[in-house]
Amino acid sequence: MRQDAPFWKNKSLAEMSKAEWESLCDGCGRCCLHKLRYEDTNELAHTNVACRLLDLGSCQCSKYERRHRYVPDCVTLTPQVLAEIDWMPPSCAYRRVHEGRGLAWWHKLVCGDPDMVHKAGVSVTGRAIDERYAGPLEHHIVEWPGREPRVRRPKPEDDAAGNTTEELS
Ligand code: SF4
Ligand code: SF4
Repeated sequence: MRQDAPFWKNKSLAEMSKAEWESLCDGCGRCCLHKLRYEDTNELAHTNVACRLLDLGSCQCSKYERRHRYVPDCVTLTPQVLAEIDWMPPSCAYRRVHEGRGLAWWHKLVCGDPDMVHKAGVSVTGRAIDERYAGPLEHHIVEWPGREPRVRRPKPEDDAAGNTTEELS
């Protein structure tokens, strides 16, 4: 391993500092969507209903440091927890590094743009519903949070204008 390689290539998740660990989150908000678990089959269903603390514009937790006071069952992600749960989105940076896939091109640590997660169509912005207005979760079952996102790479000449994008996958 090259010594000058970035920390996410040089270190395991367990070896990362708290700051490094926190910086890995791409801010997609996908893990903050509610899931359903069917008791009889243990099958998982994803929904487009967001935790009430998720800011649907920025896709950031609005009370991250104090979130457990409001959402006691919000999972605190650790390397061990990550290895045990089956519902982290396939595009999640932690899951990608855990599985040896590294970070995607649209990750802020790779491209340098913290908004690329939105521009590339990876975040939940524009696609999620606040749990306070959603009604029954069963009415909001969708498959996309459990799939790899269809990413869009902004063309350089269009990125400045903030419009046209090119479909990649
Ligand atoms: S899915 Fe992963 S990368 Fe996205 S917000 Fe959740 S923890 Fe961060
Ligand atoms: S409390 Fe914050 S981090 Fe936890 S699920 Fe809700 S929005 Fe996401």
